[in-house]
Amino acid sequence: MNKDLIMKRYGTDVTSLDRVLRTAEGRTDTAALIAMASGGSKDIVSMAKDAVSKAKQKHGNVKLSFPETAYGLPLLYGWKGISDIDIDGAASFLDSLKDAGDATLDDGLLAGENTMYAAEIIEAVRYLDGAPEEGEGFVPDRVLRELGLSFVDETIPGAVLFLGRTDDDRELKKMARDCQSKGMVSCASGDCLEQIKENGIAVGWDRMFYPLGTFTATVHALNFAARAAYSFGSVSEGDRDRLKAYLSKRPKIVVIHMGPLSRLDAAFAFSALLHSAVIVTDQDVTEISGALRSCKDHEDMIQVGIEERGITVKLEPIDLPVAYGPAFEGETVRKPDTYIESGGTRSESFELLTLADENDVEDGKITVVGNDIDKFKKGETIPLGIVVHIYGKDVQSDLEPVIERNIHHFLNYAEGVWHAGQRDSNWIRISNNAVESGIRLEHLGKILVHKIKEEFGKVVTRIQVTVITEPEEVSRQHEKAKKIYEARDERMKGLTDDSVDVFYTCTMCQSFAPDHVCIVAPERLGLCGAINWLDAKASNGLSPNGPNAPVDKGRYINEKKGEWEGTNAVVRAQSHGNVERMCMYSLMDSPMTSCGCFEVVVAMTSDMQAVALVDRDHTGMTPVGMKFSTLAGSIGGGRQTPGFMGIARKYIVSRKFIAAEGGIARVAWMPKRLKEMFADDIRRIGNEAGIPDLYDKIADETVTEDADGLIAWMTEKQHPALNMPPLME
Ligand code: SF4
Ligand code: ZN
Repeated sequence: MNKDLIMKRYGTDVTSLDRVLRTAEGRTDTAALIAMASGGSKDIVSMAKDAVSKAKQKHGNVKLSFPETAYGLPLLYGWKGISDIDIDGAASFLDSLKDAGDATLDDGLLAGENTMYAAEIIEAVRYLDGAPEEGEGFVPDRVLRELGLSFVDETIPGAVLFLGRTDDDRELKKMARDCQSKGMVSCASGDCLEQIKENGIAVGWDRMFYPLGTFTATVHALNFAARAAYSFGSVSEGDRDRLKAYLSKRPKIVVIHMGPLSRLDAAFAFSALLHSAVIVTDQDVTEISGALRSCKDHEDMIQVGIEERGITVKLEPIDLPVAYGPAFEGETVRKPDTYIESGGTRSESFELLTLADENDVEDGKITVVGNDIDKFKKGETIPLGIVVHIYGKDVQSDLEPVIERNIHHFLNYAEGVWHAGQRDSNWIRISNNAVESGIRLEHLGKILVHKIKEEFGKVVTRIQVTVITEPEEVSRQHEKAKKIYEARDERMKGLTDDSVDVFYTCTMCQSFAPDHVCIVAPERLGLCGAINWLDAKASNGLSPNGPNAPVDKGRYINEKKGEWEGTNAVVRAQSHGNVERMCMYSLMDSPMTSCGCFEVVVAMTSDMQAVALVDRDHTGMTPVGMKFSTLAGSIGGGRQTPGFMGIARKYIVSRKFIAAEGGIARVAWMPKRLKEMFADDIRRIGNEAGIPDLYDKIADETVTEDADGLIAWMTEKQHPALNMPPLME
C-alpha cells in the first residue's frame, strides 16, 4: 500500500502503519489468519485513539458524523445502538473495547468488529478536516435511495468490493467489466483504486463502480451495506440479531482480495464476514466453506465469489440475429424453407447435457467443431452434436436429463429454428431466412448458455456449449453420449409403480398443448422419452413449483387399467377440466393425452384385434393405413383418442405397457429397426408370458405394409392377439 499517501491523508505515524500493514508469509491457515486479524485490530484501535486525541486538541469535543446520512456512524449505530457520538464519546467507546484473543473464530470476529468501529471513527475524524478526494469516501444515503429497492430485491444481484492489487492491468479491467456486465455494484479501496485510476477505468455511481479511498476507507463498503438493512429492512439501532439476519440474505457481498495479505486485510476480512460477505483471495489460505475461498486465477475470482455467495445473475436479452421467444415455439420449418437439417434419421445427430468439473467448464464458452452453417450447401443434411457442460456446486447428476430436456424448448424459441425429439433421436431444421439473417451454430450455443442460466441459474453457475459438425467427432461424442443415456435408464431398473407412493406430473409441454399433462411413473416415462420418474423427482426437488409436481396416487379405482383417484384428480385439474379420467395402463379406456413429442404411436389395427407401433424414424406406410406423420397429426395437441396414443419408446417394454389390453402380446406390427432395438426385451417378456416365439410373431415392413397382409400373417403365425377379446366391441 502507498504508505506516504496514507500518512499524509491520515496523519498517522510510520511505526503503527508498518505494523498494521505487515503481511503474511506463505500459506495462511485459519489460526494464523485469526492471529493476524487480532494483531491488526489492536493496532487500528490504538491508531483510532491517537486520531481522536489529536482531533480533540485541534477541534475540541465536536460531534463525529459523516455527510448526508441519518445514521451517524452507521456501524456504531446498527451494531452498537449508538446514534450520536462526539470526540469524548468516541474516546471512551474505544477504551471500552475488549481486545480480541487470537485463538478461536469468535476472536477473529471480535477483531473484525473492533476494527470496523475503529476504522469508522478514523474516517469520521478525517471529515473534521474536510472531505477526502472528490468522489471518494463515505457513500451518502442519497445513493442508497437512488439504487432503491433494486439493491435489495436482487435486481442488482450483489456487490463486489475490490481490495489489494494485481500485477496485470488487463485482468483488473476485465474484472471490472465483468461486474458491470453482471449488473453488480462494485467498490474499490486501497491499491487497486490507484490502479483503476491509472488504467482509466471509469468510476462513479453512474457506472455502479465506486472508489472508497485508501486504508480504513474500506469500512464504507460495510456501512453502506448495513444501511440497506436500516432503510429497507427497518432494522433499528442496536438490533444486532435482526441486522445479522438481514445481512445474511442481502445485499450479497463478495470481497475480492488480491496481493499479499496484511494484518489490516485480515481484520477487515472478519468485519466483512460479520456482514455475511464471501471473501475470495488469490493468496494461499485455508478455505472456510461459505466464507473464504482461495482462487489463483484472477479472471475466475468473481465467478467463484458469485457461486460461493449464491448470487443469481440476471441476464440481458440474448443478442441474436433472429427474433426469440415462446411465440416461435409452435413454428415449423418446412422442407422447402430449410437451409440445413440434422437428425430425424437422415443424419447422425444428438444432444447431451452433463455435469463437469468446476475447472473444466468455462462459463459462456461456445466452441464450434467443424464447418459452420454457411459452409454447407442449402438443403444439406448435416451431422450434428450439441454437447452442453454445466457446473454448479450443488448440482447433482440426476438433474442432467431434466435440464437437457429443455434444449427442445430453448432452441424452438428462436425464429427459424425448429427442434423435435431429444437425446439421439432429435431433429433440427434451420430455415433459409434465419441463415440469411445471420444465424450460425454459435448462436445455438448462446441461446443455451443464456436460457439455462436464466431458468436454472440458482444452481447452475457455469455453462459451456460445444456444437460439432465434424462427422468423426460427432460419432465419437455420440458414442460417449449413448453410454450416458444408457446409464440414466439403468438407474430406473428395479423401481416399480407399486413400490412408490407418488407419481409426478410433467406439464412442460403445456406451452403448446395447454391441456396436456404427462403422468410420470416408474414404469411409464413421459411420452417424449426424456423424463423418467427419477428425473421428475429431481426436478421437483429443484423447483417445487415447477412442471413436475408430486401426485399422490390415492385409492385404486381400477388396478388393471391403472386408474387412481389421485391421478384422476390431478389430470382433471391440470387439463383445466377437459380430461375427466385417465387410465395409465389402457389404450382404449381414457388413455393418456398426447402433446406432440411422443417417440412412438400405438395404433389399433383396422380389425380391432391388435395394435401396430410406429416410431418417428419410420417414414414408410403402416398396416393401419397411415404413416407416422398422419397418425401424429391426428392424436397430438393434448387430446385423448381411444385406440391411439403417443408414447416413449422405452415404454413398449415396460410391464405396464397397455396392460389392460394384454400388453406387448397385442403388438402385431412394428418397424424392423424399432423391433430390433428391443429384441432382447421382447424375447424376455415373451418368455415370461409363456409366448417364447413372440418376437418372431411380430411383423414388420419387410412382411407387409397393409391391413390384409397383416391379418394373413397373424393367422399364419397364430398371433396371441387373435385369442384376446377385440379391442372394441
Ligand atoms: Fe414433460 Fe411429457 Fe412434455 Fe416430456 S412430453 S416434456 S414428459 S410433458
Ligand atoms: Zn410434449
